[in-house]
Amino acid sequence: MRLLLVEDDQAIATPLMTGLERQGFTVTWVQTGADALNADTGDLVLLDLGLPDLDGQVVCRRIRDRSSVPIIVVTARSEEVDRVALLEMGADDYVVKPFGFRELVARIRAVLRRAGLEATEGQPTVEHSGRVRIDRRTRHVTVDGHPVQLTPKEYDLLSFLTDDAGAVRTRDEILRAVWDENWWGSSKTLDVHVASLRRKLGGAELIETVRGVGYRLADGP
Ligand code: CA
Repeated sequence: MRLLLVEDDQAIATPLMTGLERQGFTVTWVQTGADALNADTGDLVLLDLGLPDLDGQVVCRRIRDRSSVPIIVVTARSEEVDRVALLEMGADDYVVKPFGFRELVARIRAVLRRAGLEATEGQPTVEHSGRVRIDRRTRHVTVDGHPVQLTPKEYDLLSFLTDDAGAVRTRDEILRAVWDENWWGSSKTLDVHVASLRRKLGGAELIETVRGVGYRLADGP
């Protein structure tokens, strides 16, 4: 397992690296947010929020925007971090300084286990842009970690667009896939569903209108 350790304080990072490597992890250490954003995230990111150059929360969000890699946030300011804020940032868990090494390793293993579980149970979970997450077994959708209640048609529409993110789907293709072959009603229905889906996903930018053709799921953040 490869970890990316983002920590500006050498007095913390050096013993941490030694300990983690003894536990069998391969650790890449960077000291700034900018370096973190340029580094390979590996299998898990351990991210100190108090960095010299960028706000750790911004770094967390930017990593999350482009990757589903598990992120454990390290914070010295326990009182300022609530779970909702962490979810919004895209973190999977957090530890508060000063933390025990054993506690940290237990958290790392737990987060990796959860991530691995999702990966192997697998294909049913689809991620898009690190923001939208669709569990196809349960038809459960979250946006930035928040559950979204979709109607069955809205769900099917999102699921269909996600099948080939970035590709333009014509109105006919969508109507055939999401409604059915015998659909003969107004294709306004499609626009109405797209509008409500956009609203529930928290903005229009995810589902793009391709004028005169159809729709597509925006490819990337
Ligand atoms: Ca720090």
